[in-house]
Amino acid sequence: MVRVYLVPLTAAGFLEYVDTISSLVEDSFTSAGVGLEAYKWPEVVKPSLKCYDWGRMQYIASCVVEELYKKTSTLDPEGYSLGVGMLDAYEPGLNFVFGLAVPAKKTAAVFTKRLREEYYGKPARYDLYVERVAKEVVHELGHLLGLQHCGDRKCVMSFSNSVVEVDYKTRFFCEKCAAALKTMASHHMSRTK
Ligand SMILES: [Zn+2]
Ligand SMILES: [Zn+2]
Repeated sequence: MVRVYLVPLTAAGFLEYVDTISSLVEDSFTSAGVGLEAYKWPEVVKPSLKCYDWGRMQYIASCVVEELYKKTSTLDPEGYSLGVGMLDAYEPGLNFVFGLAVPAKKTAAVFTKRLREEYYGKPARYDLYVERVAKEVVHELGHLLGLQHCGDRKCVMSFSNSVVEVDYKTRFFCEKCAAALKTMASHHMSRTK
């Protein structure tokens, strides 16, 4: 069983939906034949202003992941940490990122500000928001377990550069990614027994 700690980076935009998001994420992995348990981290772990770029008014994704790693990795060294916050973030060379995974640190983050319809001047749609967040969480967890981007546009491991692409892909792994995931997860389990 793969253990994942879902860590709120902000209360708003995540804590209201954490139970639904957890079950959607667990379901995506069950469908791929991989057992995954998601736990809610008991407190909000806010990124520090050290990770904030005032010029761009965005967080630096790798800085947020590094901080999260330092704050959460000691509890369960075999588990994975994934932060979710209603924030906007970027990585050098990119205008923005929906998420970032650092497999070597078993830590990732998903930034949801641009996953909201309101960001594009449209009325809020919470069902759509929750579905998008779940897809991006599954995607980053796929990276943490060792998957690369997938060319199948319906596969959750396809790279999304816009919400249109996020909406086009499904919450599920294609057959090829599911098979690779199963192999990787069984190695993970034999390590952790
Ligand atoms: Zn990716
Ligand atoms: Zn795939």
